[in-house]
Amino acid sequence: TASVPMLAIRNIQVVYGGAIEAVRDVSLEVPSGRIVALLGSNGAGKSTVLKAVSAVLDAEDGKIEKGSILLQGRPIEQASAHGIVGLGLVQVPEGRRLFATLTVEENLVVGAHLQDRRNLAEARDYVFGLFPRLVDKRHQIAGYLSGGEQQMVAIGRALMSRPRLLALDEPSLGLAPLVVSEIFEAIQTLRDRSGLTILLVEQNASRALAIADYAYIMENGRVVLDGTPEALGRNADVREFYLGLS
Ligand code: ATP
Repeated sequence: TASVPMLAIRNIQVVYGGAIEAVRDVSLEVPSGRIVALLGSNGAGKSTVLKAVSAVLDAEDGKIEKGSILLQGRPIEQASAHGIVGLGLVQVPEGRRLFATLTVEENLVVGAHLQDRRNLAEARDYVFGLFPRLVDKRHQIAGYLSGGEQQMVAIGRALMSRPRLLALDEPSLGLAPLVVSEIFEAIQTLRDRSGLTILLVEQNASRALAIADYAYIMENGRVVLDGTPEALGRNADVREFYLGLS
């Protein structure tokens, strides 16, 4: 139903190594069909929130100590990483993590492990429609693509399992402005044409606010501000510290 958000994070606390409190009492909501941005500087705790949501904290000795995470109203904080993907929440991690020795198309197929063959061809065509410049490169080795093309493959691979909620960790990282524009346009297209729900973690606040419906700003493990891009854009601190405006 419309009133249940796609994702609701309620008062989570995440600790690494039993001691380092990386996320403190963070709550946020991602309504269905919207782009919600999670902003903040290096080390603010954004990636940790995404890792908590995707259940990949174990590998780093991280743990959700308190709080709950609800996907369409259903608690998922006890679910496995694999189970969460099965429920439709897929993350594109920072640094993209492609299979560097596989081709573009092989990377996409790996992302489609839950799909049957017919759905697979359909999902692949959908990705090539979203990122036309991957079509000519479909048989190229992913490791030799440009950074922007690799990000497109990483997003495409995530889309192959037809998620309900796509979580993106710093998709603009290290990319030239033109290719960032291309990727952010694709993110908007995913919302506008397919109704996909998107949680967008970004350090590039101006880019993220340009496409988001709502945003949260983290500092030192906490959410310190939230609002619509319009409201945040009027805030003097946001303008100075996150948008570089005076
Ligand atoms: P970045 O943009 O650099 O990824 P971030 O806002 O995503 O920054 P996190 O990576 O979530 O921030 O880090 C939040 C805090 O948790 C930081 O103080 C960081 O040093 C700490 N931290 C992150 N990962 C670990 C880990 N595996 N072990 C211990 N501390 C960690």
